[in-house]
Amino acid sequence: MNISTAQQALKHYFGYDRFRPMQEDIINCVLSKQDAVVLMPTGGGKSICYQIPAIISQGTAIVISPLIALMKDQVESLKANGVAAAFLNSTQSYAEQREIEEDLKYQRLKLLYVSPEKLISGNFMDYICNLNISFIAIDEAHCISQWGHDFRPEYTQLATLRQRLPHLSFIALTATADKATRNDISSQLGMNNPKRFISSFDRPNLSLRVEAGQKRIEKIIKFLEMRNNQSGIVYCLSRKSTESIATKLRNAGYNAMYYHAGMNADERSRVQEAFIKDDIPIICATIAFGMGIDKPNVRWVIHYNLPKNMEGYYQEIGRAGRDGLSSDTMLFYTFADVMQLRDMVSDAGQHQLQLSKLERMQQYAETRTCRRRILLSYFGETLEKDCGNCDVCRNPPELFDGTVIAQKAMSAIIRVHREMNKSLSTGMLIDILRGSRRIDLVNAGYHNIRTYGAGNDISYDHWQLYLQQMLNLGLIEIAYDFHNTFRVTSTGEQVLAGKFPVNFAKLSQFRSTPSTKTAT
Ligand code: ADP
Ligand code: ZN
Repeated sequence: MNISTAQQALKHYFGYDRFRPMQEDIINCVLSKQDAVVLMPTGGGKSICYQIPAIISQGTAIVISPLIALMKDQVESLKANGVAAAFLNSTQSYAEQREIEEDLKYQRLKLLYVSPEKLISGNFMDYICNLNISFIAIDEAHCISQWGHDFRPEYTQLATLRQRLPHLSFIALTATADKATRNDISSQLGMNNPKRFISSFDRPNLSLRVEAGQKRIEKIIKFLEMRNNQSGIVYCLSRKSTESIATKLRNAGYNAMYYHAGMNADERSRVQEAFIKDDIPIICATIAFGMGIDKPNVRWVIHYNLPKNMEGYYQEIGRAGRDGLSSDTMLFYTFADVMQLRDMVSDAGQHQLQLSKLERMQQYAETRTCRRRILLSYFGETLEKDCGNCDVCRNPPELFDGTVIAQKAMSAIIRVHREMNKSLSTGMLIDILRGSRRIDLVNAGYHNIRTYGAGNDISYDHWQLYLQQMLNLGLIEIAYDFHNTFRVTSTGEQVLAGKFPVNFAKLSQFRSTPSTKTAT
C-alpha cells in the first residue's frame, strides 16, 4: 500500500486530484498502523483522512461518531460515490441491523459508522473485536474529555476498546480542542505515542471586532446599511430574543427571520432552506443554527450576546466566509451577559471548568492586544505578527516595554513549578510578587523565591491585568489541572531568557469592569 494507491482512490471515489497537505501525512500514518490525533478546523477535510485508508485497507474500518444525523449523511454520500459503507445506531430496526451484520460477516463493508451508545450496548464490543477490522477512527474526539465543551460519558469506554485492540491503529479527529483537551484526548484513549497533526485554525479572511453592548440594534442596523442583501447570522442567547431582534430588523426594512430549537422541524427546515437559497439573507438564531450547514457565502456573523466559550465563538464565526472571501464578524460585549452566563454555567455540570472558559471569553472581549493572536493562542497557535484585520490592530492601544514585568512573573511561576513541584493560582502568584506575608505563602516557603516582593510597586488589580495580557500574548497558559494554574510556554521561556522583548498595553486603556475572577 502506498500513497499513489491512495491518490488513485481519491480521484476515483471523490473526484479530487490531490490531497491537502496534511491529509497525505495522516493517511500514511494510519496505513503504517500508528495512532494519530488530528486537529483540523471544520471544513478542513478530516473525513478523507480515514475514508481513504479505509477504502484501500483490508477489512472494515470502524468510525465512532456521535451525531446520528451527520452519520447518515456521510454514509449516504459515500454510497453515492461507490464506497461500501453502513452505520449502526439505536434508531434502526432489528431487520436493518441484521442486514448490516450479514454484510460485516462477509467483509463486504469498508466503513462502519457506529454511535457511542451502540458501541457500549450489550456485547457489541465483543462482536466488533471478532470482526476483521482495519483500524478505528474516532470522530468528534473532544467528546472524550471532561475539559472539552461536549463531554460524552460513553466515549470513555473507547479506552477499553483501545486496550482490547492493541495491534490496530486508532485515529482521533476533532475540530474543537484547546490545548488541555487535546492532551487529554490521547491520554484518555490510552494511545500509544500518537502522531499529532495540527493544522492552522487561522481564518485570515474573517475580520474580528468587539463592540460595547449598548444600543445593539442601532449598531446592527448601521452595520447592515453597507451590506445590502448579504447573507449573515445574528447569534442570540435566548429563543425569545431571536424573535424580537428579527422583528426589529424587519421593522427597519430588512428581510430577517428567526430560528431556534423551540420551532417545529418543518418550520426550522423551511427557514434553513430559505437561507441557503438566498431567499432570506438574515437569520437571527440560537446556536442551534448552523450545525451541518455548508453555505459558502455567509458574509457576516454577529454575536448579539457573549458566547459561553472560545470553542463556540470560533465555531460560530467560522460559518462566515467559507468561500475564502472577506467576511466580517462583530461581537457585542456587556457585563450583564457575563453575569447571566455565569448563572447559567453555575447550574450546569463542571461548574469550575465552564467558569474558567467563560473567563477566557471575557478576556478576549476585553483585550487590548490583537484579537486573532488570542483566538489562535487558545488553540495553541502563535501568530508571527499582529493580524491587521481586527479592531485592536486597526486602532492600536499605546504600548510600553513590559519585558521586565513579564520576566518577574514567569520566573516565580517557573521556580515554584520546577523547583518546588507546585502550581500557582493567580492570587498566590500575585501575592508572591507583591511580597505578601500571607501565612500559607510563608509556610510553603514562597517568600524564599528570588522574585518575592519584586513587583510590590504594582497594585494587585494591575497585576491581574498584566497576567491577562501575558496569557493573551501566549507567554503563559492555563493548565486545567485541579485548579486553574499557570504554566510558562516556550514563547514565555524565550522572553525570560531575554531573547526578545514584549510590549504591554498601557493600563489606562483598559475598561474597568467589576472583578469576576473565580476563586483559584
Ligand atoms: P471536516 O470533516 O474537517 O469538517 P470534510 O471532511 O467534511 O471536513 O471536508 C470538507 C470539504 O472539503 C468537503 O466538501 C470535502 O469533500 C472537501 N475536501 C476534502 N479533501 C479534499 C481534497 N483533497 N481536495 C478537494 N476537496 C477536498
Ligand atoms: Zn489583530
